[in-house]
Amino acid sequence: MNKKILISGASIAGPALAYWLHKYGFQPTIVEKSPILRGGGYKVDIRGVAIKVIEKMGLIQEIRQNDTNMRGGTYVNKENKPLATMSADIFNLRSEGDAEVMRGNLANILYHHTKDDVEYIFGDSISSIAEDDDGVIVTFEKGEPRTFDLVIGADGLHSNVRKLVFGDESPFINHLGFYVATFTIPNYLNLDQWELYFHAPEKVVSIYSTKKQAEAKSFFAFKSPLPSYDHHDKEQQKGLLADAFSGVGWQIPQLLMYMDDTEDFYFDSMSQVEMDHWSIGRTVLLGDAAYCGSPASGQGTSMALVGAYVLAGELASSSGDHHLAFTRYESKMRNFVQKNQQLALDLIDDFIPKSKTQIFFRSQMIRLLPYLPGKKLILGKMLDQVEQAANAIFLEDYT
Ligand SMILES: Cc1cc2nc3c(=O)[nH]c(=O)nc-3n(C[C@H](O)[C@H](O)[C@H](O)COP(=O)(O)OP(=O)(O)OC[C@H]3O[C@@H](n4cnc5c(N)ncnc54)[C@H](O)[C@@H]3O)c2cc1C
Repeated sequence: MNKKILISGASIAGPALAYWLHKYGFQPTIVEKSPILRGGGYKVDIRGVAIKVIEKMGLIQEIRQNDTNMRGGTYVNKENKPLATMSADIFNLRSEGDAEVMRGNLANILYHHTKDDVEYIFGDSISSIAEDDDGVIVTFEKGEPRTFDLVIGADGLHSNVRKLVFGDESPFINHLGFYVATFTIPNYLNLDQWELYFHAPEKVVSIYSTKKQAEAKSFFAFKSPLPSYDHHDKEQQKGLLADAFSGVGWQIPQLLMYMDDTEDFYFDSMSQVEMDHWSIGRTVLLGDAAYCGSPASGQGTSMALVGAYVLAGELASSSGDHHLAFTRYESKMRNFVQKNQQLALDLIDDFIPKSKTQIFFRSQMIRLLPYLPGKKLILGKMLDQVEQAANAIFLEDYT
């Protein structure tokens, strides 16, 4: 009963869920809009209980081998002169045991550990979902209609499943007022496990590389009220980014030149998803689709991994009663999600300084941090908050 499960989205949440569902004897199918597994994206943190989930999946060694092992970063001015330097652990508020991997590498690891046991359909998308007492009839943009027992939307911030079942996304999306973009560039500054940060008022740009021999990544964040932009139209998004950073200086003209040729351009609003409930009937949402924390929380990937573990576990332990499983999944995850979404709201002002004065004081503080008597106090409070949020759920053993 309730064995055939369709998952929309093959990034982090979808494949992680499929891994557990297969382990518990379900038959998961994943449909992914992109014709191939999507690489790209920034470095993402795996923290707290999400590390325990990775351990339970037997993937911890692979994750450690893929750790970015970033050493630190330098704040620079327009002339690329160093203003202050910070270790990576401090900058990312990392605690012992946390991991940081490239999003694309994590997606690849999860795909490779599920592809032989899970049906993957690339290059297609659900076009309708109709439910009756026995199951869900799903039609696709390209493939033939099929019937499943349950449908899971793990298709990100702009979830297609959410739109089809819960309606237009606007009531669920809380725009935090910023946009982010990231794309691969040549490592033309020869960075080696090192990052450069440049700040202008309400703008941040960084360049980093996880190895001297490897390519580098650029990252942009800027403040903007929600413009009407098409989240499928990459050329329009590149235009928005170029306009926002026109005349700002530093390495930006060079980065924008590389943007034209990059293959993994990612652009989105910094937004959170807030919903009163994550399921309707036989459909439930997971990961960013249900509770996106935004890049400012640094916890989107961990929430997706933990959510996948809990949802699959609850389905396995509720003897086919999906209402019970969805209710338990939601009640177990709510507090964890709230605490991790709150991190973004608390940290966003530190992430992107508002004025030249704030930028000046911040670089002075970072420069002086090693000599400040209250160093442990300042950082300790923030570290504690991240650590508490990352561990704010008890993981049941579902096996
Ligand atoms: C290419 C890419 C780059 C990213 N880069 C960053 C980054 O730099 N920083 C950051 O904080 N977060 C980034 N994210 C988001 C980050 O991966 C998530 O916050 C987090 O890992 C939770 O993952 P998720 O699986 O819930 O959602 P997501 O990672 O957003 O994955 C959603 C998946 O659903 C697929 N999808 C979308 N629409 C459909 C549809 N109609 N039918 C089928 N599939 C669909 C998408 O192609 C994607 O593979 C990125 C996501 C992607 C896809």
